[in-house]
Amino acid sequence: MIDQYNRDINYLRVSVTDRCNLRCKYCMPKEGLSQIGHNDILRYEEMLRVIRCGVRLGISKVRITGGEPLARRGVVDFISRLKSVPGLADISLTTNGVLLKQFAHDLFAAGMKRINISLDSLNKEKYASITRGGDLHAVLAGIREADRVGFMPIKINTVAIKGFNDDEILAFAGHTLDKPYQIRFIELMPLGDVGGDNNSNYLSNDVVMDIIRRAYPLEEVNGKKNKVDGPARLYRIAGGRGEIGFISPVSQHFCQACNRLRLTADGHLRACLLLDEEVDLKGPLRDGCSDRELEDLIGQAIKKKPWGHTMIKEERHLRKCVKEMATIGG
Ligand code: SAM
Ligand code: SF4
Repeated sequence: MIDQYNRDINYLRVSVTDRCNLRCKYCMPKEGLSQIGHNDILRYEEMLRVIRCGVRLGISKVRITGGEPLARRGVVDFISRLKSVPGLADISLTTNGVLLKQFAHDLFAAGMKRINISLDSLNKEKYASITRGGDLHAVLAGIREADRVGFMPIKINTVAIKGFNDDEILAFAGHTLDKPYQIRFIELMPLGDVGGDNNSNYLSNDVVMDIIRRAYPLEEVNGKKNKVDGPARLYRIAGGRGEIGFISPVSQHFCQACNRLRLTADGHLRACLLLDEEVDLKGPLRDGCSDRELEDLIGQAIKKKPWGHTMIKEERHLRKCVKEMATIGG
């Protein structure tokens, strides 16, 4: 599927639920989001149908996300059914890790091998504060269990937040010395109406990188791997076992290489994280559309894919999308 700007669209992120067992301050208001009604959430069977059609059109990678995907009942079974979709080469999961200790073994047995775990602080109190009540020990136990059962690679997503975890950047980076994990620093984006202040807490990855460079010699990971590993620019502390990734959607947006579509929890296809225009699939699915019609709708979503977003530093306060990550699928 080549879009009008010659980008090969081969990656679908699927939000299986907008619900979450945490309330991260930059992602959700403290009372949570107004939840999509039970009937309005796409059923697994419907997701599978969209994915099969997408794969026929050229999707080869799917990431399961949310909300918190492990909080939706039946997700392991869904993943094992995904594994049998012919042509789907790569399946991965993004989770907050709170339930991972309990699920890691079954997820791995169901065929999931790649996992991203979100973790913004290594301090128990700070973690509880940013997630509004999350238990750091549960996440750390989840990471250890994922490691033990064989997940590879294990990627840790850390949103860099000014005045919150800028004093922990070296501790996160230092973990890559003896652990084969990829620690990825993600710039805070102004999405949705979360009540928190994602603009004044923004920390550029240039600053994060400077902090690390002052303490450790950073080497760029060879160019080829850097190209295939999505939007992360990859580095390694000389001699370290793991890698450090920098994902900079604000300071260095990667729109020219964007290969993604998103299926929202309420059954819409979204061509750009920051463009609120979506294509409804749930209505046609429930009205009995054919696979051919579904494929045409996927094609329409790709046509809507803009050249890029304008969430550059100077304009961040001007342009933000209405929906939060949890609904769109981060
Ligand atoms: N609940 C799961 C989790 O936290 O990993 C999956 C969904 S969450 C929306 C996916 C990722 O989006 C997380 O790594 C989270 O930190 C990130 N995220 C959420 N809101 C964000 C924002 N405003 N800017 C940057 N990253 C954000
Ligand atoms: Fe939940 Fe993930 Fe959003 Fe945190 S970032 S509130 S864990 S969806």
